[in-house]
Amino acid sequence: MSKFWSPFVRDLEPYVPGEQPKMSRLVKLNTNEHPLGPSPRVIEAIRDAADERLRLYPDPDASELKDAIAAYYRLKPSQVFLGNGSDEVLAHLFLGLFKQDRPILFPDITYSFYKVYCGLYGIDYQTVPLNDDLAIDLADYQRPNGGLIFPNPNAPTGQPLSLDAIARVAEANPDSVVVVDEAYVDFGADTAIALVDRYANLLVVQTLSKSRALAGIRVGFAIGHEGLIEGLERVKNSFNSYPLDRLAIAAGRAAFEDEAWFQQGRKLVIDERESLNAVLNGLGFQVLPSAANFLFARHPDHSGADLALALRERGIIVRHFGKPERIQDYLRITIGRPEQNRELVQALGDILS
Ligand SMILES: *Cc1c(COP(=O)(O)O)cnc(C)c1O
Repeated sequence: MSKFWSPFVRDLEPYVPGEQPKMSRLVKLNTNEHPLGPSPRVIEAIRDAADERLRLYPDPDASELKDAIAAYYRLKPSQVFLGNGSDEVLAHLFLGLFKQDRPILFPDITYSFYKVYCGLYGIDYQTVPLNDDLAIDLADYQRPNGGLIFPNPNAPTGQPLSLDAIARVAEANPDSVVVVDEAYVDFGADTAIALVDRYANLLVVQTLSKSRALAGIRVGFAIGHEGLIEGLERVKNSFNSYPLDRLAIAAGRAAFEDEAWFQQGRKLVIDERESLNAVLNGLGFQVLPSAANFLFARHPDHSGADLALALRERGIIVRHFGKPERIQDYLRITIGRPEQNRELVQALGDILS
C-alpha cells in the first residue's frame, strides 16, 4: 500500500492466475495450456515477421488477422474484434457494453476474472447459482439485467450448453447483450458464432490461447453484430491503438491457415480426456462431464487441498480452488500429453493406495 495510489486501487481485488513455475521438470496441468505446441507454420510465420520491420508500428486494425478469422468463419471483417488475449477483449466489453443501470448476471461459479472487471470498472453484478449438478441453467437468468456473460463450456466445471439454450436466452433478452465466452468451445461444444447473424445482441468471445496453442502470444477475439464491434473498437481506440504486435498478427493468421494441425491437436485432447475420465472413474473419482481441455473431479475420501498437495510433492501441479465451498474438494486437471496423463494416473494411484 502506498499513499500515492489513486484511492480506488486500494479496494481492487485482482485476478490470481494459475502458477507459472520456474522449474521446468514439473508436469504442468494447472492452466489449461495446449499439450502440444502451435503449428510449425506459426513458428515459421513469426520468424518471417521478425526483421527490420519491427521498427514500425503494427497495423492498428490487424486487418490481416481480422480477414483470416472472418474468412475462417464466413463473416465480414467488420464483425470481428481483436484484443491482446481474450482477457483484454473481455475487459473492453465489460467497460463498453456492461456499464449499465441494471446489474449484469453471471454464474456464481465461473471464470473469476468477470468479478474482477466489475470491481475495476464499478459495474454492478449479480451471480446466479449453478444447479445441483454444477451446471448452468439459462432458465435461471430470466430477470431484469444489464447484460449476461457465461462461458461455454463453463470454467472451471467444463460442462457445455446447447445452442438452443443460448438462442433462447438471446431471444429472451433483446435489450441486453449476451456474451458467450468460448475459450474452450473447440474441445467439444458448439460455437454460437452460427447465431450472431440472427441476434444483434449476441457476442461470442474466443481465444487462441487454448485450442490453438498460443497462450504465449496473447490473441483473443470477439464476433458479433457490427454495432457491437464498433462499440468495442471505440473503447479499444481510447485505450491502446496497437494491442497486437507484428509477431502476434503473423502468428494468429498462420494458426487459422493450418486446419490439419488444429484438428489433430483437438482430437488428441478429446481422446486423452475421454480415457483419463474413465481411469479417474475407476480410481473412485466423481468427474463432471467435460467438453473442455480439462476435467473437474473430486474423490469422496480425500479433500481437494490434500490431493493437490500430494500431487505437487510428486512433481505434478493441478488447479485447486479453495473457494467457494461447493467446489473446494474438486481439482481442475488440464489434459496433458499422453505420458503426462499417465504420470498423473500413476501418482494418483500411489496417493490413494
Ligand atoms: C483462458 C480463458 C480466458 C482468457 O484467455 P486469454 O489467454 O486471455 O485469451 C478467458 N475466458 C476463459 C473462460 C478462460 O478459461
